[in-house]
Amino acid sequence: MSKNIAFLDLSAQQARLGEGLRQRLDAVFHHCRFVMGPEVAELEGALARYSGARHAVAVSSGTDALLAVLMAEGIGPGMAVFLPAFTYTATAEVVLLLGARPVFVDCDEETFQMSLLSLEERLHDVQRAGQYRPQAIIGVDLFGQPAPWDALNQFAQQHGLTLIADCAQSFGASYHGRKLGREALATTLSFFPSKPLGCYGDGGAILTNDDERAALYRSLRSHGEGVQRYDVQRIGLNARLDTLQAAVLLAKMEVFDRELARRADIAHIYDEGLPKGVIAPRRVAESDSAWAIYCVTLPSKKVRDSAQDFLKEHGVPTAVYYPKPLHQQPAYAKHHDGAALPISEKLGEKVLALPIHPDLSNNQLNYVITTLKEWATHIL
Ligand SMILES: *Cc1c(COP(=O)(O)O)cnc(C)c1O
Repeated sequence: MSKNIAFLDLSAQQARLGEGLRQRLDAVFHHCRFVMGPEVAELEGALARYSGARHAVAVSSGTDALLAVLMAEGIGPGMAVFLPAFTYTATAEVVLLLGARPVFVDCDEETFQMSLLSLEERLHDVQRAGQYRPQAIIGVDLFGQPAPWDALNQFAQQHGLTLIADCAQSFGASYHGRKLGREALATTLSFFPSKPLGCYGDGGAILTNDDERAALYRSLRSHGEGVQRYDVQRIGLNARLDTLQAAVLLAKMEVFDRELARRADIAHIYDEGLPKGVIAPRRVAESDSAWAIYCVTLPSKKVRDSAQDFLKEHGVPTAVYYPKPLHQQPAYAKHHDGAALPISEKLGEKVLALPIHPDLSNNQLNYVITTLKEWATHIL
């Protein structure tokens, strides 16, 4: 008796957006400025206003946003960039693409965010080994909750490191009562369809308060061009956001706050309804999550797998973010110094993400909770 529950329901969202979306797309088909059309600048204005950042620069993906930011800081060979081991591959990938050294940091067991204690240890590790110069930290707002930005800023300042915010999962979240986007020198966003604000393909943006950086990001996203089109100032990227994607995002921004509120309601209903033994995600103090992912923790891999199987048999899709931390992935293992990161290594066995999207109905939500409770009476 499944209720056709989707992990992410983009067709329901599309139906809900209706005419607003069609009109936005029709406007682009009418003017035909598919690259850097007027919707791109309009979106940048809307993103800056929403986040409170002075500048927003739209780019082709969250990965390219990170890449451009690191390029602007001159990140390259011989430099160490600290980042969480428990995150999506893109955060680390860009560091290696530029020839620098990713240094993996462990996370907090309950909030899943980067651990300051581990960061301190990892900095000492790098200093002791003396092979790489500590240069930057990429903080990640994992699952939509803010990273410990106050502590990260203090740490970065104390040690002369550049702080970059990977907010791919958290656009729309707030910290100390204000929207994320000003916690670091540069904040990167992803509009991949499954992110809280998603487009219909790939997309991303960079937020910053720094005028010079903003100009540099604009140049880097478009082949390093200067003010004149065929004036090549530097080596850059082809990393512009499609006009059509900007149009989709402008339509979605109209409903974004309502969607965030619905995600928060769903998270709250899960919190109240979870059976004993299924641990709700711990909230980061003084923050509101964007709820990209609602991730519960179970006592062991065996129990987690059993819950996932039972839910699947009953038509409830779930996901595991992330089954293996980055430092243990084949691509990264050889770039890791061998330090144990015990929490990240354990978490992948115990976490389970439940469906959370704005079109999940109360009926479907109750069905997920009832099914989970039924499983718990057999197992826990
Ligand atoms: C999705 C994601 C990215 C990459 O974004 P893309 O738009 O898919 O390139 C980077 N970092 C994190 C933490 C992400 O979740």
